[in-house]
Amino acid sequence: MVAALPPTGVRVRVPAKINLALKVGPPRPDGFHPLATVFHAISLYDDLVAEPAPAGEFTVTVSGEDAELVPTDDSNLAIRAARRLAEAYAPAEGVRLSIKKAIPVAGGLAGGSADGAAALVACAALWALDLEQEELLAIAAELGSDVPFALVGGTAIGSGRGEQLVPALARGCYHWVLAFGTEGLSTPKVYGLYDELGGRTAPPPTVADELMNALRAGDAAALGESLDNDLQPAALTLRPVLRRVLDAGLDFGALGAVVSGSGPTVAFLAGSESAAIELSVALSAEGICRSVRRAVGPVHGARVVT
Ligand code: ATP
Repeated sequence: MVAALPPTGVRVRVPAKINLALKVGPPRPDGFHPLATVFHAISLYDDLVAEPAPAGEFTVTVSGEDAELVPTDDSNLAIRAARRLAEAYAPAEGVRLSIKKAIPVAGGLAGGSADGAAALVACAALWALDLEQEELLAIAAELGSDVPFALVGGTAIGSGRGEQLVPALARGCYHWVLAFGTEGLSTPKVYGLYDELGGRTAPPPTVADELMNALRAGDAAALGESLDNDLQPAALTLRPVLRRVLDAGLDFGALGAVVSGSGPTVAFLAGSESAAIELSVALSAEGICRSVRRAVGPVHGARVVT
């Protein structure tokens, strides 16, 4: 149940993302890896409330899944987002944020980025800023590669560092089963190992036509077969149990499986809601992941909840 909203507050719900494809090019001179990715927003949400605070006062409290792992100082992405928005458009404002997390921290699901996007939407509403989506997207891109997608949601192709988005032609609603890892994986560590293992030498990275065609047709079986993540071998090397998790889900009838982003969350595609229920029960019983959750996608990006 959702707690009562303070009368002066704004509540925003923001989804996690999975990457249906993640193709990674060799590092650029600035250290970032050029990406070709397909983001997909799923119905696993963090909840953020923004309440008024005196000018210049920016605070955050965090509860829920992995709350103890989330910084509450100025490094919190939601605080960074609120400060940046105030700097640009509302210098006389402050905000008190509270986040209820359901997205596991360092899970490859862009939970921190989601909170950053939620803070932008919540503060823009709280401060009655009349901003275009493009203006929020510009700030989002400064905050991090995955923040713009958390604003728009749906299914989208990301390029550059992932921040340049084009909506994907996609049909259908997909049923996902998520296996959460016992502990997070550090994104820089996974990219580091990816480079050590040889990475990719020939830019630019591209997403396979098979995957885009499957999305266009709304063909879950074809989508399951074309899920693809260049970072998966590095994530499996750092966390060998993920191999067992992937194999178990496929043995239990998943149409496809992929490590999301830098992991360790594994996303399984099921053929129907009932298949997803069966798969999640079977996977839970294996006892090889922290917990199992079902979700559907695509869902919309960060939105004020009334
Ligand atoms: P990335 O977005 O880097 O791929 P991820 O999706 O695997 O990462 P996140 O949940 O975004 O993982 O957490 C990455 C790190 O970001 C955490 O270890 C945490 O220290 C930091 N962080 C900052 N703000 C937040 C936030 N609001 N929620 C979660 N983590 C945050």
